[in-house]
Amino acid sequence: MKKQIRSSQGYFGRFGGQFAPEVLMPALKEVEEAFLSFINDRKAMQEYDELLRKYVGRETPLYYASRLTDKLGGARIYLKREDLNHTGAHKINNALGQALLARYMGKTRIIAETGAGQHGVATATAAALLGLECEIYMGTIDMARQRPNVFRMNMLGTRVVPVDSGGKTLKDAVNEAYRDWSKTVRNTHYVLGSALGPHPFPSIVREFQSVIGKEARKQILQAEKRLPDEVIACVGGGSNAIGIFSSFLDDDSVKLVGVEAGGMGIKGKKHATRLTPTSYSRPGILHGSFSFVLQDKNGQILDTHSVSAGLDYSGVGPEHSWLCESKKVNYTFATDKEAVQAFTMLCECEGIIPALESSHAVAYCIKQAPQLPRDAIMIINLSGRGDKDIYSVADYLGKTI
Ligand SMILES: *Cc1c(COP(=O)(O)O)cnc(C)c1O
Repeated sequence: MKKQIRSSQGYFGRFGGQFAPEVLMPALKEVEEAFLSFINDRKAMQEYDELLRKYVGRETPLYYASRLTDKLGGARIYLKREDLNHTGAHKINNALGQALLARYMGKTRIIAETGAGQHGVATATAAALLGLECEIYMGTIDMARQRPNVFRMNMLGTRVVPVDSGGKTLKDAVNEAYRDWSKTVRNTHYVLGSALGPHPFPSIVREFQSVIGKEARKQILQAEKRLPDEVIACVGGGSNAIGIFSSFLDDDSVKLVGVEAGGMGIKGKKHATRLTPTSYSRPGILHGSFSFVLQDKNGQILDTHSVSAGLDYSGVGPEHSWLCESKKVNYTFATDKEAVQAFTMLCECEGIIPALESSHAVAYCIKQAPQLPRDAIMIINLSGRGDKDIYSVADYLGKTI
């Protein structure tokens, strides 16, 4: 059967769409058509699968966390170990897929935006692997905060383009990346980093991350001979979450839970919860699609706060807005404090240093697992490893490294 794009003409319910400048419309059309032939091209997909196995290190284990399970005294907890991928997170699944797509389209150059630098490093890695020219847009404030990742990208042969406009962070880097793309689309593909942006990007990113869910479903059926009761993932833009959820969306018995960054609590503005009802979150247009956005009453996009850079964004992927509104997925949040506690517990209990982003999913599990019977099964998508976060955690705990 021919693979199709999942959204209906770019819409998930009333969310999504293609709110892009006129000059980019032909480019988006070209990407959509190329993507459809790519995913239906056996040879192209075989190459992608083979690189996922031999280069990225898939499949990643589904690991039964027995000490964490015993400590919490409730549901059996499994971790989907995306932290064991090359470059340390799920982001490489998408960066590699889109870099192959770029080459498939005959493009010789890729660009991307990055906040914390994780997507920039994944994209720079894929560019080096495939011999593509690569430039990454990054706010100057983020560059200063994330110097090791800037150096990594440079070592991988990528130029990091400083963005000094606006707030000098991710939002501004995205604007510059679009500006570049509208001038260079003839030889350039824009590797968008999460399940965000104008159609067809949310569907492309979902497809390349769906490998997480496909593996997890097969692995839990093998280990437990049944489906899990809950599947939990953190939600920044929403790519690791949609990747693992995608294989369980039709199973009514499986509760899906997306965990957003509750920052310093959701009363004020120091958080990034877009799908948990607050006074600042409502549907609007940001970076090419219609989705829930944190904004003030005049529609000015709000700055967000989270201890984890990867969850610190005012918008969220349109499919999540739809899954939230149609109640197919439950969304909740964990605060900075809860995430750091979860980080510490996983380190001590399992010998795994999780990314602070992933620690939000672990934090939910710490609250929920004890409420569930001992034969219940939870899967946490451990989206990345936490070596990159040791400075933030030390800061938070008032320690110096
Ligand atoms: C970037 C990142 C996230 C957040 O992005 P999503 O698109 O929501 O998955 C989560 N975890 C890790 C480890 C990340 O690097």
